[in-house]
Amino acid sequence: MPKRGCRQFSLLLLIVSSFVTGCENSVETPIPAGLLALSEEDRLAVMGQGHCPVDGKLLGESAAPLPATLKGTRIFVCSDACKSEAEKSPAKYLSSAQE
Ligand SMILES: [Zn+2]
Repeated sequence: MPKRGCRQFSLLLLIVSSFVTGCENSVETPIPAGLLALSEEDRLAVMGQGHCPVDGKLLGESAAPLPATLKGTRIFVCSDACKSEAEKSPAKYLSSAQE
């Protein structure tokens, strides 16, 4: 009899530990590393925009996104190269950043 009780206890532990692990995974917020350097306001703007309007890369995935002001509207791009490209054709990239 005591053997059986022990087995049930370890099964319970297994269930509890897998539940706790699953819980930790879902609580983790998926903030890309590059966004941690930004202020909270900028981070929200970047997450709302999502992708670089020039090359379509996910903003903040590898490096901190750079702000670019196009026709008075602040948007974010993923690199210096994209920033100068966006400033060359502001109308084109402004509309894709706001989609
Ligand atoms: Zn880009």
